[in-house]
Amino acid sequence: MTKTALVAGGGIAGTVAAIALHRAGWHARLFESRPEGVADERGAFLTVAVNGLAALRALDLDPGKVLAAGFPTPSLAMIGAGGRRLAVLPLGGPAADGTVTTTIRRADLYAALHAAAVERGIPIEFGRRLTSYTEGRGGVAATFGSDPEIEAGLLVGADGLRSRTRELLNPAGPAPTYLGLLNAGGFTTGPVDAELDRTPGLMHMAFGRRSFFGWAPAPDGSVWWFANPPSRQPARPSDFTAESWRAHLIDLFADDAFPAAAIIRATDVAIGPWNTDDLRRVPVWHSAHVVLAGDAAHAVAPSAGQGASMAIEDAVVLGRCLAKAGETQKALTEYERIRRPRVERVVAAGRRNGSGKTAGPVGAAIRDAMLPLAMKLLYRKGNPQAWILDHRM
Ligand SMILES: Cc1cc2nc3c(=O)[nH]c(=O)nc-3n(C[C@H](O)[C@H](O)[C@H](O)COP(=O)(O)OP(=O)(O)OC[C@H]3O[C@@H](n4cnc5c(N)ncnc54)[C@H](O)[C@@H]3O)c2cc1C
Repeated sequence: MTKTALVAGGGIAGTVAAIALHRAGWHARLFESRPEGVADERGAFLTVAVNGLAALRALDLDPGKVLAAGFPTPSLAMIGAGGRRLAVLPLGGPAADGTVTTTIRRADLYAALHAAAVERGIPIEFGRRLTSYTEGRGGVAATFGSDPEIEAGLLVGADGLRSRTRELLNPAGPAPTYLGLLNAGGFTTGPVDAELDRTPGLMHMAFGRRSFFGWAPAPDGSVWWFANPPSRQPARPSDFTAESWRAHLIDLFADDAFPAAAIIRATDVAIGPWNTDDLRRVPVWHSAHVVLAGDAAHAVAPSAGQGASMAIEDAVVLGRCLAKAGETQKALTEYERIRRPRVERVVAAGRRNGSGKTAGPVGAAIRDAMLPLAMKLLYRKGNPQAWILDHRM
């Protein structure tokens, strides 16, 4: 008899998990709390690393098709506060099939994944927020708002950083930790009034005097950018209007020698702010019929560029474990055994990366002087990120 799985969260982990479960012979139903057509703009775009893209292949999902609306960004130029290029580093790939780390608008990625799920006959129910569940010996009964409960053999909590499923599995926490950085992002809509390196595929990341800034030239001539202003307190929606947020960002980069201020001035709407959080060790990943995946289980700081890839890898492993083990709980135990050590190492690495994004004037001068040599030493025996990027399912 086909077993039914309810997947809470139609983001990356949830949609790919639904596809993986379907492939493993389960009847998967996907529930997304947002209404249909309402995009999630966090970060505006994201860079999906080559390990995550390669993992899609394990589900017969063609990364070229899923990421068709994006563009390749296989390398990264690091720019110092004085505008000097300090180092060029590999961002991942090419994999054996030619796949490289790719940058894509978040809304386009989610839409492509949803289309792949629908193509496989997986129903997506929008505007359905998981609120609670009860578990019995034979399965789980999940409640979505005031609708009647739905019974199934498995509930996958892929409901993101503020996961309700995680709260129910781990009533004592943890809660996400704010890392002291805000996020902004956008796409230029007019010409940039500054000299700009437009090398295709080269992502730039610059250590500004007061904030970190990243940008990439897109094939259509626009520039995609993000900023990470430091802030002791997390931002609240009422802290800025659209105009005051844009003006604040332009001001933050006014004294920097790289073209951040000009790029933001060429952008109609600076999206954000979002807070930067990660999640310390989540004690319980699963019970007999409930399991967490993606950010719900282990949120990686955005600066690691690995949250999406970890979510995809989770989904692939979950599907494989469920296809292999007869008993659901055994499969979930195996899934955690395989995934937990890797994701916790990636979360720790992401936290270390994020901590050096801004420095005082003296710290910045030392960093700019030392970084080229430090990078040469770090990369002399190959890419120190290889354990993340070269991981294959
Ligand atoms: C500003 C920013 C920039 C980032 N940049 C990058 C990057 O460049 N590269 C990278 O790899 N990662 C990046 N990340 C991290 C990445 O976005 C996440 O790791 C990734 O989205 C995790 O996928 P997920 O499916 O677990 O969670 P999500 O993508 O957050 O999806 C969770 C989904 O669940 C839905 N949901 C929530 N609660 C419920 C509920 N109770 N019931 C039903 N549905 C629910 C939400 O609406 C959402 O659609 C960034 C994050 C931020 C905040």
